[in-house]
Amino acid sequence: MSSFHRDTWVEVDLDCIYENVQAIQEHVTKGVTVIAVVKANAYGHGDVQVANVALEAGAKYLAVSFLDEAMSLRQQGITAPILVLGASRVSDLPLAAKEDITLTVFQKEWVEEATSAYQGTEVVKLHLKLDTGMGRIGARTQEEVAQILELIDKAPNLQIEGIYTHFATADELQSSYVEQQFERFHSLLNQVTNQFSIPMIHCGNSATTLRFPTRIFNAVRVGIAMYGLTPSPEMEPELPFPLKEAFSLHTKLVHVKKLSIGESVSYGATYTTKEEEWIGTVPVGYADGWIRKLQGMNILVDGKFAPIVGRICMDQFMVKLPHELPIGTKVTLIGKQDGKKISSNDVAAKLDTINYEVPCMISYRVPRMFL
Ligand code: PLP
Repeated sequence: MSSFHRDTWVEVDLDCIYENVQAIQEHVTKGVTVIAVVKANAYGHGDVQVANVALEAGAKYLAVSFLDEAMSLRQQGITAPILVLGASRVSDLPLAAKEDITLTVFQKEWVEEATSAYQGTEVVKLHLKLDTGMGRIGARTQEEVAQILELIDKAPNLQIEGIYTHFATADELQSSYVEQQFERFHSLLNQVTNQFSIPMIHCGNSATTLRFPTRIFNAVRVGIAMYGLTPSPEMEPELPFPLKEAFSLHTKLVHVKKLSIGESVSYGATYTTKEEEWIGTVPVGYADGWIRKLQGMNILVDGKFAPIVGRICMDQFMVKLPHELPIGTKVTLIGKQDGKKISSNDVAAKLDTINYEVPCMISYRVPRMFL
């Protein structure tokens, strides 16, 4: 913390991530490669720290969204294989080759362009993405798949290492859609695996991995569960092992005052005291990702739940305190105090969104501390 000059910080408990990765590795068949998904600064947790601990715990591969994220890991000393899950530019093939970064391919035209534009001798490893129903990126037909694989097969500097798909509803217990996607994936695979040798086959995000550990081929791409969060609230009772939530957010009261009855707080004067009230000022705001919709949310101060009152400002908000408290009292927005807990799930529920969004939205302005 010495290089930061504000008393607001995220704590990332790397032991939780270590234990979650180990539990995931034990849950899947021996020999299944765990690909730790560390895109978006490891879902807001800190890319290189999470990557290192995931690799220590047994993950063999990393995945990110964009080449820039892979480069950031390389620049911070990560030498493990990294798969870019999103689209990359053909013009960046030399960079991918130089840094040994695996790219995702899904368009015949892209591979055609690559075979003529990329003349380097260093081999670029590729994973072919199949769209079996997510409707995002991926080759959809047998014809496209065959064309792409034949083009790669003929190119001496391109190598097919993997083939994969992504499920849209694996976290929904009552959905038959995931079965349809499994079927489409199997049928596209049947066509290619006789003709081409493709070492890695993967379809599992966290939900798929937790629910169908015997149907996930030989690698899994695990994000949210590694961070200790359940992919959806309905999966919570079905978890095969407990997940340990790694992310918490803390700060300290910077001001405390007693307001008389009928006094107002913050922009728009939307909150008026109903009695004499102790009001604390918390130095966190929407520029930190603690957005205005969180007005009314309970946070933890001095081991007790206390509501956010009045509008959240860019850098500060106010909390109704249970009683007078000293300046400097620790405030927990996500995490535990005295046996009470606010989970990223609670913040997501308040915002009517998914828990994935919560650590991602806590901005880069808030320093991450690693336990
Ligand atoms: N694979 C792909 C292609 C993804 O886009 C994601 C995340 O969105 C993941 C794997 C990891 O998913 P999860 O965080 O649900 O494990």
